[in-house]
Amino acid sequence: MRGQPLPMGAAPNPQPAASLAVTRLPAFDDNYLWLIHGTGAAASEVAAVDPGDPQVIADALAARGLALRAILVTHHHGDHVGGVESLAGRFGVPVYGPAGEDIPARTVALQEGDAVELPALGLSFTVLDVPGHTAGHIAYVGHGAVFCGDTLFSAGCGRLFEGTPAQMLSSLDKLAALPPETRVYCAHEYTASNVRFARAVEPGNGALAAYEAEVAALRARHEATVPSTIGLESRINPFLRTRLAAVRASAATHAGRPLAGDADAFAVVREWKNGFRG
Ligand code: ZN
Ligand code: FE
Repeated sequence: MRGQPLPMGAAPNPQPAASLAVTRLPAFDDNYLWLIHGTGAAASEVAAVDPGDPQVIADALAARGLALRAILVTHHHGDHVGGVESLAGRFGVPVYGPAGEDIPARTVALQEGDAVELPALGLSFTVLDVPGHTAGHIAYVGHGAVFCGDTLFSAGCGRLFEGTPAQMLSSLDKLAALPPETRVYCAHEYTASNVRFARAVEPGNGALAAYEAEVAALRARHEATVPSTIGLESRINPFLRTRLAAVRASAATHAGRPLAGDADAFAVVREWKNGFRG
């Protein structure tokens, strides 16, 4: 079963942006599992995004009196799908996931442009293909939010396990083109170490320096740094800034050679991060 394509001219986000309520559930060492709440009277109806740990989800549902209505998966990695099969079986809910990947218990295979209608929640999302971290990775966009799995992190991006630098750059370009106020619900708390790397790439970026202080204060209180926003990321995330002169100059210095183009610049920054110990 495929998701329904969006009719031509249909508004993908009928709800006001501020209407989306989301609960953040920490799991494992640094994952966040997200519960999307329904609107209005449906506030106790939820969809779980990337439920890697079924117990974390089950405990939250019980403690908060919530009803699970759907599971949304961004990609096939174990820390994102580990709880899918048992939760789907236990609660009898549909499992939405990328058409291009093996997702346990998936009932709806999605690709770019598909709509995910969640009538129990009064919400609908549209799908973006964002390959790079994995080959079939998707993101869910709607109601002023994007659930982007391991594609975009605050001040960073996912490692390229299955995709090319050009693919990841194009995927990040799609996310960067979302409205600046869009909230970025990524799947990991990697921000502090990402910011250390970003500062090495762009030591002259004042917005980044301010963000570093903000992140340090949050983490000192053991508080989460996400969701971020697209607008903030466009100002501080080196992986959304590889076309800018300051990042280019830094990347060329690191590589010790001139850069060949956009994908090359992105690849250099991504490889630099892989080996970075800050
Ligand atoms: Zn992953
Ligand atoms: Fe992950």
